[in-house]
Amino acid sequence: MAVMMKAAVLTGPNEITVKTVPVPEMKTGDIKIKVSACGVCGSDIHMWKTGKGWNPNHKGDFWMGHEFCGVVTDAGTSGFKPGERVVFWANLYCGQCDMCRSGQEHLCLDVNGTNYIGFVCNGAYAEQFVGKAFNAYRLPDSVSDVDAALIDPLMVTYHAVLRSGLKLHDKVLVVGDGIIGLMIASLAKRAGASVVALSKINDRRLYKAKEIGDIDLYFDGNDPERAQMMQKASGGGFDIAFEVVGASSALSTCIDGVKAGGKVVMIGNSIEPTVAFELNRAVLHEITLIGSVSCTEKEFRETIDLIAKKTIKPERYVTDIVGLDDLQKSFERLVSPTDPALKIVVKP
Ligand SMILES: [Zn+2]
Ligand SMILES: [Zn+2]
Repeated sequence: MAVMMKAAVLTGPNEITVKTVPVPEMKTGDIKIKVSACGVCGSDIHMWKTGKGWNPNHKGDFWMGHEFCGVVTDAGTSGFKPGERVVFWANLYCGQCDMCRSGQEHLCLDVNGTNYIGFVCNGAYAEQFVGKAFNAYRLPDSVSDVDAALIDPLMVTYHAVLRSGLKLHDKVLVVGDGIIGLMIASLAKRAGASVVALSKINDRRLYKAKEIGDIDLYFDGNDPERAQMMQKASGGGFDIAFEVVGASSALSTCIDGVKAGGKVVMIGNSIEPTVAFELNRAVLHEITLIGSVSCTEKEFRETIDLIAKKTIKPERYVTDIVGLDDLQKSFERLVSPTDPALKIVVKP
């Protein structure tokens, strides 16, 4: 008889049900872990809303969860040992194609940018997880389980800031007050930004943003005068704007706020196939649009180090630690326009 475990299964639109399911079987090259912690990500919300993952051919129950760490219980044929703490890089890649071989594993030709654990296959909103040893990394003792759940959002942030080419004294605008937005603000400050401004559409996370303390200016993204206000406050526009929402209005705010010749880094993704923006302003002001997703394998390893060295203080971003049974409620809170939750971490 199969060994069973609890998993938070996506059972329909806006619906997660904790079920008892078989522990996934190990294949060649896999390791098995007992999941210690898994962060709830903004991109999970899209799947929660639609009630399905990204893989139309997925058979049986599907559960999300891609920001996770755990303790090795079966090391298979890998070099890991049972009892070791590991964090998984959720970014699946082949390791063979031209992109992988040039250190651009996150753009692997074989997987086409969307092949993530917890998106195309079952993730870690469960008591146990089985995956390729290849994607697992030993955790330093100085990184707690909850801190490790922030490695994934920090890697996205780190890659985006590197993509922006941020220089000392640059003025930075961040559009979006979720975890990635607030982490970008912090990292941009560490990287030498002279001013970091945040555009938001409500005040639900203002207390957290202020507590983290790396933001100098706030703008209301819904203010019809926002373009003039941002241009005036930044003395002619920001050098770099980060779009961390994945919506037309947020991209427009970036294009409104950036100076002529400035850059917009787009991190937010959208379930809508197209997103409208002011083409003329982008063209006539020679604004550079830069896409940014995940990070390279090297940057993932560096991100573990950034967390271990407390370049940002991971615990500052975590507002709630919950069990699998509270996951449904957690998603309801994250989509609420008034709930102050920023980062929820599940301990199965
Ligand atoms: Zn994530
Ligand atoms: Zn590849």
